[in-house]
Amino acid sequence: DYCPAYQIKPSLETKRYNGLFFAGQINGTSGYEEAAGQGLLAGINAVLCIEKEKPFILDRSEAYLGVMVDDWTTRSTTEPYRLCTSRAEYRLALREDNARDRLYPYAKKYALLGNQEIQSFETLQDSTNAEIQKFRKARIAISKIGETGKRFKRKDSISLEEYLKQPGVTIQDVLPLLGQFEQTFSDSIEVLERAAIDIKYAGYIAKQQREINKFKKMENETIPEDFSYRNIKGLKNEAKEKFSRFQPLSLGQAGRIEGITPGDIAVLSVFLKRHKETVK
Ligand SMILES: Cc1cc2nc3c(=O)[nH]c(=O)nc-3n(C[C@H](O)[C@H](O)[C@H](O)COP(=O)(O)OP(=O)(O)OC[C@H]3O[C@@H](n4cnc5c(N)ncnc54)[C@H](O)[C@@H]3O)c2cc1C
Repeated sequence: DYCPAYQIKPSLETKRYNGLFFAGQINGTSGYEEAAGQGLLAGINAVLCIEKEKPFILDRSEAYLGVMVDDWTTRSTTEPYRLCTSRAEYRLALREDNARDRLYPYAKKYALLGNQEIQSFETLQDSTNAEIQKFRKARIAISKIGETGKRFKRKDSISLEEYLKQPGVTIQDVLPLLGQFEQTFSDSIEVLERAAIDIKYAGYIAKQQREINKFKKMENETIPEDFSYRNIKGLKNEAKEKFSRFQPLSLGQAGRIEGITPGDIAVLSVFLKRHKETVK
């Protein structure tokens, strides 16, 4: 007794019955978190549907919930679906420590936070950014950073930002040094840790962000919900059948359907472009 995933939209509304939303193991998933996450998503979307607003859809780069829904709305799973971190390709972006940063704009938009929570999180974000700037400006003498200093043979001093980027150096190494600068650093360990993580992994995070931007470009190539694939010349019958069955909402989603090749996407992309121009 379950609803096949290809009959569910990424908003968790069923394709056959408008206004009917499914969450949890009825969608072929197993697990407490899997069910709870979908319950939240389906609940928000049911309200948005009543209010005739656009659905709330998280993509694969924003949350594990987005990865899960995308996985089973583009693939036919034969086993109950469980969410594992290995299923996400943007794991560096989907960290536990930045969950609030990723999802805060939505929590605010859908009124899931009280005024006090909004204010305290915005203060935390502002303080983190201010601390990053201070780490950038404050300079420490090479002689004061022990063995790590030997890596900087031609310099007398480096910024705390550079120091934090060194392998093996953590905020715990930096904390005892903070008293000696003219800048007053935050006394909140949470703020300092957030700033240190941002600095330490900035290069990797920027690289992942470039991949996410490419991914978003494909996600933004939307496909109308009632799009007909039957008359697309040059598209394999197997691809036509799969697209008709899953009814992907974007080129990105279409490309992730099992058995779909880059060639199928190229044909679909050209046809979609022509279709959009005709509609215009
Ligand atoms: C023995 C066991 C151990 C498990 N252990 C774990 C674990 O350790 N960790 C983990 O993450 N997951 C575990 N799971 C899986 C997890 O419990 C489920 O995947 C999850 O609870 C499903 O949540 P759900 O809301 O989709 O469904 P359910 O929790 O089954 O909720 C469905 C609800 O609908 C009600 N209902 C059914 N029909 C009707 C009707 N006609 N009218 C009104 N109400 C109705 C039911 O009474 C029930 O309350 C376990 C499952 C089992 C069976």
